[in-house]
Formats: sequence, structure tokens, C-alpha cells
Amino acid sequence: MATRQCPNCGAAMPAGRVAAYSYDLVCASCQHPLAISELSRTFAAFAGLAAGAIVWWIATLRFASEPGALGWVWPVFLAYLATSAVAALTLMLAGTLQLRTGDPAPQHERVTHQIPH
Ligand SMILES: [Zn+2]
Repeated sequence: MATRQCPNCGAAMPAGRVAAYSYDLVCASCQHPLAISELSRTFAAFAGLAAGAIVWWIATLRFASEPGALGWVWPVFLAYLATSAVAALTLMLAGTLQLRTGDPAPQHERVTHQIPH
């Protein structure tokens, strides 16, 4: 399955739409509800965390020698930005879609009470 391709009709979804509406994707061609596969979500999260750890390490080496009370802020802030950007970009580039069965809302069941006579 190609990335960002509807499994129902084969139409390609725009990358920005996959990242922006990742929880309620609807195919623009066949209107079928879509979801991003768990493997893609997990891979994007780990790629973002790995990038954040690398950026934190580089920023710590850069700012550790500078004196100041807020020297710890830059590595944390830059790592946060890197994690957010890389996770979203990975999802846009490598996200695979699967069919969503429907709303996660609970199904209402008709309950008939047995009334003893
Ligand atoms: Zn479709």
C-alpha cells in the first residue's frame, strides 16, 4: 500500500490533510472514513522522539558552556520543536491509511425489560 493512498478507491490524500485531520479523515474521492494505521503513528512518534533527543543533545553541548540561569530552556524548547515538526513530517511522508469502520460512539442497543405478571 502506497503512502497516503485510500485503500477503498486508490486516490492519494494530500499530505497536509493527513497531518491536520488525522482523527477524522474522509476520502475526498469516495467519501469513505479513513484512519492512519497504528504502525504509521508509532513510527512517526518514535522518529519525532529520536529527533528531539538528538536536538536536545546538540543544544545541550552548545549551551552548556554559557553561564545563565535559563541555559536549560533552549535545549528543552528546541527539542520540543524538533519532536513536533519531525513527527508531523514523518506522518505526512510515510503515513499509510486504512478504512475506518465508523464513529467510536457507543452503539445503542434496544433493551426490552421482561416484566413479570
Ligand atoms: Zn477513497
